[in-house]
Amino acid sequence: IPFYRLLIIGGGPIGLACALEAQKHGVDYLILEKGCLVNSLYHYPLGMTFFSTSERLEIGGVPFVSNSVKPTRPEALEYYRRVALSHVVNIRLFEAVERVQPSGNGKYLVTTAHGRYEAANVIIATGFYDIPNLLHIPGEQLPKVRHYYKEPHFYALQKVVVVGAANSAVDAALETFRKGAHVTLVTQGPAISERVKYWVKPDIENRIKEGSIRAFFNSHLAAIEERSVTIRTPEGLLTIDNDYVLAMTGYQPNFAFLEGMGITLSQDALRLPAYNPDTMETNLPGVYLAGVVCGGMNTHKWFIENSRVHAEVILRHITSL
Ligand code: FAD
Repeated sequence: IPFYRLLIIGGGPIGLACALEAQKHGVDYLILEKGCLVNSLYHYPLGMTFFSTSERLEIGGVPFVSNSVKPTRPEALEYYRRVALSHVVNIRLFEAVERVQPSGNGKYLVTTAHGRYEAANVIIATGFYDIPNLLHIPGEQLPKVRHYYKEPHFYALQKVVVVGAANSAVDAALETFRKGAHVTLVTQGPAISERVKYWVKPDIENRIKEGSIRAFFNSHLAAIEERSVTIRTPEGLLTIDNDYVLAMTGYQPNFAFLEGMGITLSQDALRLPAYNPDTMETNLPGVYLAGVVCGGMNTHKWFIENSRVHAEVILRHITSL
């Protein structure tokens, strides 16, 4: 069984940051990534713009040059790919980790679909973009319901319901509206989220005010049928014609994966994984958390710009032992 001092699970921006930091410290490591390089970013909407300025997305001190102040998805893919290639990062792609178990002597056995590895330390940098928060309503399994939005052209001339009022929902509503979709926004809160990018928020609010995008606040989607949806509004149930539902209701970390290896999760709704913030070590010695996965259900707490520092914290701890 191949042995590494460090196995990193997840080849997202933070997994890559950990790899660069391991290289800096001369720690032999391997990243195991279930999809392509920076898999989550690859699956983001094609036309998305990051809310961070490019220098705040930098890892390993490598400059990120973008055309505008806020980089686009292709620019971020270009950047992380160039960083990974130029640093000859040791990574195996399309190899999902299925299990992490203690193997004795304080080491861990990491099992993937293709093989087994042993490691003295494991970093879990698996993000949160694989498991959508479901609506749990009748009709959610219909093919017209999507939890990932890619691009707007497909929805031209279609009646689209967008569920949610945060960045993903607002971007999807505005983009599809501008490509000729008839857009209805349904959201449980009383207003567009305060977290929506400050330069986008007035745009959506004004489209709602002028009636180009219809919005139901304090409302829930109650049921989805083949050609319609039923909305529970403060005024009662309302059924409207509908072709597609974009359920932009957020995503969650893979809690079963974390619990399966023995990481303690808080018993409240946040399901916060246990870790020491000074070292990022979990309740399992030698197993660390990095990146957005640290926040449990609070997926807005950690993002690239404030969690890339986890790489330094963890490697400092590993190399001081
Ligand atoms: P991820 O990028 O999600 O990487 C995790 C990786 O782990 C993935 O590649 C996944 O395939 C892999 N993985 C998961 N499970 C396994 C497994 N079992 N085995 C192997 N591999 C596995 N943040 C910012 O800082 N600035 C922004 O402007 C910004 N904009 C965003 C826009 C959108 C639309 C979204 C959804 C998020 C945005 N974020 C932004 C948040 C940002 O994407 C995340 O903070 C960032 O991806 C976190 O990086 P990560 O490496 O922790 O997780």
